[in-house]
Amino acid sequence: MDIHALRAFDDNYIWLLRRGRHVAVVDPGDEAPVLRYLEAEHAALAAILLTHHHGDHAGGVAGLLARHPVPVFGPAKEAIAGISRPLHEGDRADLPELDGSLRVIDVPGHTCGHVAYYGQGALFCGDTLFACGCGRLFEGTAAQMWASLGKLAALPADTQVYCAHEYTQANIRFALAVEPGNDALQARAARVAGQRAQGRATVPFTLAEELATNPFLRSAVPAVATAAERHCGARLNGPAEVFAALREWRNGFR
Ligand code: ZN
Ligand code: FE
Repeated sequence: MDIHALRAFDDNYIWLLRRGRHVAVVDPGDEAPVLRYLEAEHAALAAILLTHHHGDHAGGVAGLLARHPVPVFGPAKEAIAGISRPLHEGDRADLPELDGSLRVIDVPGHTCGHVAYYGQGALFCGDTLFACGCGRLFEGTAAQMWASLGKLAALPADTQVYCAHEYTQANIRFALAVEPGNDALQARAARVAGQRAQGRATVPFTLAEELATNPFLRSAVPAVATAAERHCGARLNGPAEVFAALREWRNGFR
């Protein structure tokens, strides 16, 4: 199974899984780039997978279904028009045309029913985990998001992470404010600056890289906790509280 990126809007990625002429798409917020790809590549749409209900992820479903009546996998806990295969944690999204199957992981926080898909060494996590960042808490609590990120962080370290936005450079500016002395983070900042200067994507990336550089996954690291306490001016008891303080800090960071 090959994985390709389609760009949408300012900074969204629609992930396209392909085997032979069969493709599945993850989070088609816009149908136009998908339809263009199918036509140009003489490819056949086999399935749509959705992580959550936001328009920049699900907005292209109706336009795709109008031409390609395929199964639409998505979170059972969110009311999204077009879903024909509602999924709960532990369910599998089977993609027979692609000879593949992805396991569903509940990751509430950004939205209440947000799911991620994991399989064949790849993680499609929507707006939950970003390179050096995490999604905003629109519906869920910091405690929920902390638990969700913990589930993702426990996957194999060589997992390739396919998030839904190119937010890496802005996230790294924040990460450096939190942890200026992190050598791995400084090296990543330099590498990402080079990639972006050439207009290249910084996604996918590995979980190992996140564990070394993403402040939100590093809430248990003393230097990160100290920085969070200094910023909010209060004692923080444990990584879940550190995470909540970091998320607040990030909301106001420019
Ligand atoms: Zn979203
Ligand atoms: Fe989004």
